[in-house]
Amino acid sequence: MQEKLRNAVVVGAGIGGLSAAIALRKTGLNVTVYERNEKDAPSGSGITQPQNTFKVLKDLSIYEDCLKSGVQLDYLEIMDKEGNLLLEVNQKFMNADGPGRNSIWRSSLKDVLLSKALSLGVIVEWKKNFTTYQENQTEVILSFEDGTQVSADLLVSFDGIRSQVRDIMLGRKVTPQYLGMGAWRVPLTFEKNTISKRSYMLLNGNTKVGIFPLTDKEGYLFILKPVPSDYWDDEKKRYYTVSEILKHFHGKADFIKTCFNKDTPIIFNLIEEVVLEEKWYRNRVVIGGDAAHASAPNLAQGAAMAMEDASVLGEELSNTTSLEEALHSYYVRRFPRARAIQSLSAELLKNELKGNFAQEEIIAKSDCILQEAY
Ligand SMILES: Cc1cc2nc3c(=O)[nH]c(=O)nc-3n(C[C@H](O)[C@H](O)[C@H](O)COP(=O)(O)OP(=O)(O)OC[C@H]3O[C@@H](n4cnc5c(N)ncnc54)[C@H](O)[C@@H]3O)c2cc1C
Repeated sequence: MQEKLRNAVVVGAGIGGLSAAIALRKTGLNVTVYERNEKDAPSGSGITQPQNTFKVLKDLSIYEDCLKSGVQLDYLEIMDKEGNLLLEVNQKFMNADGPGRNSIWRSSLKDVLLSKALSLGVIVEWKKNFTTYQENQTEVILSFEDGTQVSADLLVSFDGIRSQVRDIMLGRKVTPQYLGMGAWRVPLTFEKNTISKRSYMLLNGNTKVGIFPLTDKEGYLFILKPVPSDYWDDEKKRYYTVSEILKHFHGKADFIKTCFNKDTPIIFNLIEEVVLEEKWYRNRVVIGGDAAHASAPNLAQGAAMAMEDASVLGEELSNTTSLEEALHSYYVRRFPRARAIQSLSAELLKNELKGNFAQEEIIAKSDCILQEAY
């Protein structure tokens, strides 16, 4: 590196930001992460990590811990709305000998990432809401809502789909594109071992229900269903909304209906994506994860892509001779893969909007891409 970088700041302590902190710290940089939420803010429900994710988990030295904190699901059963089996999908699409998909609470994944980052000497500051930045020849200066400022050699932004860093860097407000579906995610609790270590998908018209165990007594349910762009999902009525949707599903779904209640914190999101024409870096600022390429969740690759971004950024910063070259190489390596997976995820979703779930060709294309080195 012509200009020796000494430190980097990361905005966002989500999955991508904590991964970036680990990857950058491993290159020898001093790293501080700034997160607007409290340390123990709710992190949402579960997340699944398909087999390709294991490579980046190993690169970040958190593979064993993630597997220990999650459950490994070797098969996905796809069923009709009555619960009749249509297809059994082996989840070991890359390695027949390894575990299948890992299913883990988001909070557990964050705990694993945070504890790795802290053990390496990363500093994490909570309740620090980033508001703006300015740059000069030698540094980038960040401002926070509490009136404080910090300066650093490099600003790395993993601040999510509504990234403020991105909008300042690009000089325009990016509006995420609505894709036509709403997603409900419901944490589930059940008697120990009453659900097998498999995942389940039930299909009805253009509505899809997924069931994923997370431990031997917990799991999560998700529903993907078309809703208008101005749809408002009233949190107080969410239990009834979900129960109404589930009325049309039977078999496994009948058991699942008994695994949550009126007090269960159900999350709802409209599904959106961010497709950028611009590069993901400018001067001393670089973006990754959902800030750069938020995607439909249909391939369950958003977190994997964010973590890969982080790992590649670390590699390029240690391999390349100038900051601009490192950030450019990062972008050139990451853009085609993230864009291809984003576009296949959106294609799956658009077919599902029409009630078409026969999507083997798209899945095969995505498996091919994901098997390649990143
Ligand atoms: C319904 C649904 C299901 C999904 N399921 C899966 C799945 O099974 N597998 C998978 O791999 N992916 C899944 N994803 C995608 C995945 O959740 C995201 O791609 C991933 O979380 C992106 O990580 P990130 O770190 O880039 O952003 P985020 O997780 O959004 O983190 C951004 C962080 O930045 C912080 N922040 C934002 N603004 C500021 C600010 N101004 N100052 C300080 N901090 C700030 C936020 O508080 C947050 O902590 C799913 C997504 C959805 C919507």
